[in-house]
Amino acid sequence: MIPYGHQHIDQTDIDAVVAVLHSDFLTQGPAVPAFENAVAGYAGAAHAVAVNSATSALHIACLALALGPSDRLWTVPITFLASANCARYCGAEVDFVDIDPRTRNMCVVALEEKLEAASRKNRLPKVLVPVHFGGEPCDMERIGALARRFGVKVVEDASHAVGARYRGTHIGDCRHSDIVVFSFHPVKIVTTAEGGMALTQDAELARLMRLARSHGMERDPVRFMQPPEGEWVYEMQSLGWNYRLTDLQAALGLTQLDRVDAFVRRRRELADRYDRLLRGLPLLLPTRTDGNDSAWHLYVVELDKARPTRSEVYSRMREGGIGVAVHYIPVHLQPYYRAIGFKPGDFPRSEAYYAGAISLPMFFALTDVQQGKVVQILTDSLQ
Ligand SMILES: *Cc1c(COP(=O)(O)O)cnc(C)c1O
Repeated sequence: MIPYGHQHIDQTDIDAVVAVLHSDFLTQGPAVPAFENAVAGYAGAAHAVAVNSATSALHIACLALALGPSDRLWTVPITFLASANCARYCGAEVDFVDIDPRTRNMCVVALEEKLEAASRKNRLPKVLVPVHFGGEPCDMERIGALARRFGVKVVEDASHAVGARYRGTHIGDCRHSDIVVFSFHPVKIVTTAEGGMALTQDAELARLMRLARSHGMERDPVRFMQPPEGEWVYEMQSLGWNYRLTDLQAALGLTQLDRVDAFVRRRRELADRYDRLLRGLPLLLPTRTDGNDSAWHLYVVELDKARPTRSEVYSRMREGGIGVAVHYIPVHLQPYYRAIGFKPGDFPRSEAYYAGAISLPMFFALTDVQQGKVVQILTDSLQ
């Protein structure tokens, strides 16, 4: 089976992880801050907080922004569950903004209308989570301007977008947001097996996220609330978790990051080839936006005829050895979110997109020959 996504591990990755195994620190050693500095430098952020997943990064981002019960977070239905669940961890309400069918990202017009309506009812969200779907940057300039106008904080879920560029700079520089979150799951652009990171330009947000990452433990005597009895003293002033990344993972992340531009370059090449090879088939292909360079985490096509159905095409391709996938089942249609009150029809453009979407194999090591096979089997499956 040719999978839809796959990590690329080379000897430098293996040597880096083995070197940590021979060292004094398997966790809380020098590799984690080195990885944080490398990602912050690459993305153009002042601060980076490494954690054990993007899910944890989204959670500590919401905690740092003081999202709590009686607050609201808005994201899109076409995303992974974690973009919405982070609000629920904090006891906050979730709502969704429908997508723009062209980019599959949060629709800025729908967002503006929804913010205006919410403002009239005094029900504005505290946090907005746009998702760079498939690695294609959202219209952050307009989203950022709307967020400032309505006093809303922005956390970019950039799990797909490590290495993507928006208007000339890397996603991650927080130019139009408070915090940017990356994922290092093996199907994403660069991997640490499990892992994530929260980036920000704001020292105070970074401090709060570091506290939440490690049990809420304060070690700076200047900040103690009680006079310390000795040098061993740490204080817990707020509730925290253990969301730490290990040094093994950070070492892997460092060598992976060395290849991020090569990873994205090959993905872009594969996307261009898919565009050429699929032209003429009854499919909607991903679109490009001037000024954006997608990281091409996903290459999603949409069927634009009723027959064969998506389900038929999906099964035929799987039978043909192509590990296609579907990204994503709209989050509001999951039983957990239906129980909160969401229902089919709430976000029609997300639901229409979902009905026809199929993700084709897209990863660094996919060969031209394998890609040709994907195209052949897709062509046959559409008959
Ligand atoms: C993968 C992903 C996440 C979660 O990432 P983990 O590192 O697996 O926790 C969150 N949001 C989106 C959009 C993702 O694709």
